[in-house]
Parts: sequence; structure tokens; C-alpha cells
Amino acid sequence: MLNYDELIIGGGISGMAASLLSAKRGKKTALLEAGATLSPTLSGFTRAAAHFETGFHYAFGLGEGEIGQYFFDLLGLDIKSYPLLQNGYDEIHLPSGRIVKLAYPRQNLEHSLGEVFPEEKENLKKYLDKLEDCFLNSAYLNLHRDKTLDLNAPVDTPKSLQEVLDECFKSDEIKAVLAASSFLHGTPPNKISFGMHACIAGGLFHGAYGVLGGGKAIVNAFEKALKKAGVDVFLNTKATSIEEDGDKKIIRTNKDSFACDICISSIHPKEFLKIAPQNAYREGYKTRVNALEETPGFFTLYAKYKGPRVEASNIYLLSKTNVVDCFNTNSNNPSYYINFSPDKEQNVSIISFTSPEPAVWNKNSPDYQERKNNYSLRIKNDINKLAPDIAKYLEYIEVSTPATSRRYVGYSGGYGLMHDMYKTKVLPMTKIKGLYLCGQSVLVPGLLGSIITSLMVDKMAEAANV
Ligand SMILES: Cc1cc2nc3c(=O)[nH]c(=O)nc-3n(C[C@H](O)[C@H](O)[C@H](O)COP(=O)(O)OP(=O)(O)OC[C@H]3O[C@@H](n4cnc5c(N)ncnc54)[C@H](O)[C@@H]3O)c2cc1C
Repeated sequence: MLNYDELIIGGGISGMAASLLSAKRGKKTALLEAGATLSPTLSGFTRAAAHFETGFHYAFGLGEGEIGQYFFDLLGLDIKSYPLLQNGYDEIHLPSGRIVKLAYPRQNLEHSLGEVFPEEKENLKKYLDKLEDCFLNSAYLNLHRDKTLDLNAPVDTPKSLQEVLDECFKSDEIKAVLAASSFLHGTPPNKISFGMHACIAGGLFHGAYGVLGGGKAIVNAFEKALKKAGVDVFLNTKATSIEEDGDKKIIRTNKDSFACDICISSIHPKEFLKIAPQNAYREGYKTRVNALEETPGFFTLYAKYKGPRVEASNIYLLSKTNVVDCFNTNSNNPSYYINFSPDKEQNVSIISFTSPEPAVWNKNSPDYQERKNNYSLRIKNDINKLAPDIAKYLEYIEVSTPATSRRYVGYSGGYGLMHDMYKTKVLPMTKIKGLYLCGQSVLVPGLLGSIITSLMVDKMAEAANV
């Protein structure tokens, strides 16, 4: 039995952040990761001499003095960010054939969208005011102002994104343009609260940033900081059960067993329920969490791009003007999100939403390979039709399905659980003192959201004082 003060299960960004915060409080800390490397989500992969990003394309708040940079400094991470093209980094292709570039920050957005939709100028100003108000007053993102977290402050607002869009605008096309960023959190506009959406889209409208070296550089910075902080990292170590022994928690794995005072799980909440002690939650709550909907699965084609430099780096090819319909994973007419890495080579990933159901994408099923080939072919045909100027320069290298993400991180909904405003929330605390949850499925999604949940559990662990 290995003994630690605090143990973190799952070495994604939230688990790595929670480990650093624990060590910062002077605790003897261990981090367990089932995979062979830390944060398989962010690390990307190299094939045919090209590096492809997987779980990181861009983020808000990484400018000097902004919230993301504040988090990185707090965690002692040496991560260098840079602002992305302000004049149309995101490009929305509407089913009508209209192409709308989103210019950032807010004043550029208001100006450029106002020119495309002159009849909606006033409405746009009101909408962006609302969005900005929610973003700037979010208890979580205001950390940099007063350096405290208000754990009780609700992020959700009473209205959904779709309700606010319907109230503000007449044009369905401007609604589609503004709702396209729902692809970044994976919850459709009629299910995500306007407040939650504002935490992500509102941030991007303030400025979009890339990281030098991409997701891999983020993971490298964490690895360095974990080593410096003295956190013991156990790779290829999968937690299989959590038991209580008095005030101690005993974590069994495929290798050693661990005893600790505080245990923080950053794995998918449904996977956590499988290994958690029976009394961690009431039965009714467990049933509700198990019934929560997954975000869509991602079917992704990775390609080298050999054409002239593309300025816009995120292209949303919307198949429906109503973005809610773009989330239909049974659709024969999917939407696509095309990301060009900002490197010299401009490698590309083309992502479409598909069913996250393990039964639908199951590597052991006899027709898996055939279905994967057919789906890939359909995407290639679609891209040839919808974006011929890009398609002609693509050399396809690799394909991933929801079964691939399940193999690497243990779940197949691209972003974990949906943040559905009408459903039960997964909260960071359990009924057991010293047992907590963090990660993208808990309260706030995305890279910064995951770090925020780590800050939350850190405060709880500190207060538990065991
Ligand atoms: C295609 C894609 C693009 C994205 N793009 C962006 C972006 O541009 N900007 C942005 O902000 N966010 C983006 N995200 C979201 C962001 O990557 C995630 O929100 C974040 O990485 C999630 O981190 P996490 O720690 O919560 O979860 P995870 O990364 O899933 O970490 C959980 C870890 O736990 C491990 N694990 C599972 N079970 C066990 C067990 N029993 N024992 C031990 N370990 C276990 C897993 O292997 C995994 O490493 C993207 C995500 C995807 C998939």
C-alpha cells in the first residue's frame, strides 16, 4: 500500500491542475493516469511526419493579465500564447452559401456582423451587451479581480441560448452565425443556458488565442511543473475502486493500492460512479447522473493541407440554419468543423458529430471497419462539394471515431457530459468527506472550465482540513 496525503485520479488537464494545487498546499500528492502519457486529450499525435492537434485548438483569456494566463501563472506553467488573427479567425458557411467571417474582439465583431446583417445592427448590440455582461460577471471568470471563487454562484441563467437568440433577432442566419460556437462545448443551443454559453463564446469575442507548440506544449509545461512540485505521477495506472477505511480512502488500481486522506477524481462522472463507494451519493442522484446525455461523439479526418495559406483557421460548414438541428447525430447531412493548425504546415482536422453510443462505434463489431470507411468516404465527398477550394489540397492521413476516444480517455462523447441546463448538474462534492470530482463534465466545460473545477476542489480539500 502506497501512502499519500492526496491522490488525484485521471491525468487530463483538470487532474494535472488539481495535483499541482495540492502540492502547492504542501501535500504529498500522487496522480494516477490510465493511459501511457499524461493528457491524451491534449497531446495530439504525429503521423506521416505531421503533428495533428486533438483536444486543443484555441482558447480565450490567454492574453497578458487575462483569466487563463492568471491560471497558468498560479499553477507555475510556462505556456506562451499568442493572439489569433482578429479579422475572421472563425468563418461560418451557411447552408444558403453565404460565408460570414467573425472578427474579434467585440467592437470588430459588432462592426463586421453589422455590415452583413444591417437590419439587425441594434439587436446585435443588445445581444453582445447581454453576452458580455454574463461573461464579465461570471463568478468563475472573475477570479482575476478578487482572487476568490464563489462556489455558490450559478453560471446558468434562466433562459437558454436559443431563447435569447429568438428574443433578440429576426434573421435565422445571424442566429446560426452566433450559435455556431456551440460546437465548442457540445451542448445544443436549446439546452445550454445563455450564461454558460457566454462563459465560452463571450470569452472568444474578447479575443482568441493559440498556444505556441499547441496542446503538446501545454502538456509539457504541466509535466515540468509536476516534476518540480514533487508530484508522483503513475502512468498506465487505472483506478478500479475507491473504498473507505475510517477517514482514509483506499484506491485500488490495476497495479498498486494507494491510501490517502483526500481523493479527487477527474475522470468521466459515469466512470467514477462505477468505482466510487456505494454511499458517495444517494441512489436517486446516481440514477440521474447515469441518465445524463453525452455530448456528441467526434468522427474526425486528419489531413495535410498543401495549398496556399488559409487565413481563417476555423471553418464551420453548417448543414442546417438551425444550429439545434446540426446536433442531430442521425442526420445524413452532418455539419463540419474544419480546423487548420496555425503552424507553417497547416495540418487540418475535419470533425463531424456522430453518435457517442459505444454500441454504434465498437471496434470489435464485425462491420466497424466498413462503417468507418463508408463514413470517411462520405465526409470526403461532402468536403469536395462544400469546400472544393480546400478539398483539392488535402492529403488524408488518419481517421478517428468515438471508439478511438473511448480507447484513449475512457468515454466517447467528445466533450464528456452535456451541460444541459434542464438536467441534474454533476457537482464537485460527494457525500464522503475528502472525496471530490473535477473535470470538464463538472459544472464548466473546456480547457479553462476544467481548470476552474480543479480550483474548486482545491478549495474544498483545503477546507476539509483532514
Ligand atoms: C476534438 C476536441 C477539441 C477541443 N478543442 C478545444 C479547444 O480548442 N479549446 C478548449 O478550451 N477546449 C477544447 N477541447 C476541450 C478540452 O480538451 C477538454 O475540456 C479538456 O482537455 C478536458 O480535460 P479533463 O481533465 O476534464 O478530461 P480528460 O482529458 O478526459 O482527462 C481524464 C483523464 O482520466 C484518465 N482516466 C480515465 N479513467 C481513469 C481511471 N479509472 N484511472 C486513471 N485514469 C483514468 C483518462 O485517460 C484521461 O486522461 C477540445 C476537446 C476535444 C475532444
